[in-house]
Amino acid sequence: MSFQLVHPSTPAEAVRLLSGSATGDIAVLSGGTDLLLDLDNARLAPKRVLSLRKLPWRYLRWSADSLVIGSTTPLRAVENDGEVRRRLPGLWEAIRDVGSPALRSRATLGGNLGRGSPASDLIPILLALDARVRVVGPGGVRELPVDLLLQGSRRTTLGPAELIESVTLPASAPSTYLWQRVQPVNDISQVGVATAFVPQGPHWRIALGGVQPRARRMSEAEGVLPSARPSHFEVELAAQEAARRAEFVSDKRATESYRRRLVAVLVRRAIQTTLERMSKATPSRKAKR
Ligand SMILES: Cc1cc2nc3c(=O)[nH]c(=O)nc-3n(C[C@H](O)[C@H](O)[C@H](O)COP(=O)(O)OP(=O)(O)OC[C@H]3O[C@@H](n4cnc5c(N)ncnc54)[C@H](O)[C@@H]3O)c2cc1C
Repeated sequence: MSFQLVHPSTPAEAVRLLSGSATGDIAVLSGGTDLLLDLDNARLAPKRVLSLRKLPWRYLRWSADSLVIGSTTPLRAVENDGEVRRRLPGLWEAIRDVGSPALRSRATLGGNLGRGSPASDLIPILLALDARVRVVGPGGVRELPVDLLLQGSRRTTLGPAELIESVTLPASAPSTYLWQRVQPVNDISQVGVATAFVPQGPHWRIALGGVQPRARRMSEAEGVLPSARPSHFEVELAAQEAARRAEFVSDKRATESYRRRLVAVLVRRAIQTTLERMSKATPSRKAKR
């Protein structure tokens, strides 16, 4: 396959190039870990590939109440930031187990969101942390909750000439991400569970990945955790509610009923781990699985 590789150096130039191309004629390349597979197996056959590499979107910016991550920042850079691990342990856990260190040196948050896979390990924790996404396009800049970016399996609400510039998260939140896979490395999660406790109500956030048609918050389960210190009974009720309400499919990775049972177990453990993190400042590596 042959295509022209273009390297715009400003967001405005990138948007102009995208606006001037017919859908399907141009593809966006960030780290390329998903896109190169699509090109390899001819799922996509663009005339041009637009690389985001020269755009000024590689950064982590901390302020008193937020962390802004540029969309082309490699996941490895986020993982290696000690403050991410300390303040947002659930995000750190979700990133730590994406593929391999080599893959994470290329893969980006913008690419993971742009893909919008129901099996993404990053989207559930972004949902649980109420992440906001900054998007640039022909109409200028807009900001939206990550929930409104996701449309369905591998579909987002981004326009054809829109790009994700950055993701904004709270500066800290007790949080946890747990997953189950057939193979621990380089495999897709059968189920991913993210929980977070945030001071603004509703306090508890529970989000699931590996569900259909897209990762989603489980507001019904969140609703049974009214206080900062839920009882064992309330935690169990939330876990059962999440398992009952989620929509699963049976596929080669797991049956629907196995996924449902996994969700009940992982939601319970994730809430318990988040509760421990609310009392202790430092996240424990052991608490992950
Ligand atoms: C071996 C292997 C293992 C993997 N393991 C995991 C895993 O454990 N967990 C997991 O969640 N994922 C996993 N993945 C998937 C992949 O690595 C992630 O989705 C990655 O974060 C994608 O980022 P990227 O920068 O490589 O995206 P790219 O491949 O560059 O782009 C992916 C898509 O997003 C769009 N896009 C990219 N950047 C932007 C932007 N700024 N704005 C708008 N659209 C954009 C592109 O158009 C493209 O369609 C794995 C992939 C492989 C190959």
